[in-house]
Amino acid sequence: MRWIIRVIVIVLLLSVAGLAAFLGPAHLQIRGIEPTLPTEAELRALANVPGGPTTIRIAQSSSQAGAERVLGHSLVILEWANGRRFMIDAAMDQQASEEFGELVAKMSPGMGPVNYHGNVAELLGAELSTVHGVGFTHLHADHVQGIDAFCAARGPGARSYQTVAQATQHNLHTKESAEQLASSCLEPTVLDGDGLLSISDFPGLGIVSLGGHTPGSTLFAAHIDGTLWLMSGDISNVKSKLMSNTGKGWLYSTLFVPENTSRTEELRLWLSALDRQANTEVIVAHDFAAALDSGMPSF
Ligand SMILES: [Zn+2]
Repeated sequence: MRWIIRVIVIVLLLSVAGLAAFLGPAHLQIRGIEPTLPTEAELRALANVPGGPTTIRIAQSSSQAGAERVLGHSLVILEWANGRRFMIDAAMDQQASEEFGELVAKMSPGMGPVNYHGNVAELLGAELSTVHGVGFTHLHADHVQGIDAFCAARGPGARSYQTVAQATQHNLHTKESAEQLASSCLEPTVLDGDGLLSISDFPGLGIVSLGGHTPGSTLFAAHIDGTLWLMSGDISNVKSKLMSNTGKGWLYSTLFVPENTSRTEELRLWLSALDRQANTEVIVAHDFAAALDSGMPSF
């Protein structure tokens, strides 16, 4: 019997070593990314930028209901008075939505079928040609894959705006989307520096490197009609969990998606404190119902 136990122990040790070799570099990489966050005053000052955005809207591309929550995939559109638009995230096309939904159902039993509402081009219709800027909360496929549908319908003429971390620091889960972007219709612009970054083409839009969930996780901030909107991507997947400082669990943050969990906690506390201030709304990418609750108009 003893040799059986020995074999089992050796197999277990080899499995752990293999897993560590596979995930270790991603964990080390993301622990080294903790850029300086802007102050609340700096974020509020977006309200005073001349020529800032005038409207903000959200659309849901697909959704999948589970026992505890509905997992939504959405995109946010900001518009300026001159008609130029900026899109945050691109969701997925129908095939990718269904494949992603099957993967989610395997990882978290109880999730129902995917309810597909349309790709970015179908959702935007004639507005598509006025989208001149695109940003991503991070480079996971469920936020990036839809850029192919965008490019197929829009053609050239739009730029992507990325922090240095998002443009250069990739891991096993972001590499594919980075490659997809590199061969997409988007003309890349890389924004240097920490804290609140801005772009002259889209005045009043704030871009902040976050880390935590992925090396290139990014916050988008805009002040519109008296409300400061903060698009936080996947720092939390459910707004109530962001507000109660509840993490995604060891299994998710260690094995499924290598996260810097002390950083995601710091970000949850920072974002929830901001959300508790008057006229400040944090938008959690996968929680469409919470976005509607916070008063963001949909289309
Ligand atoms: Zn996501």
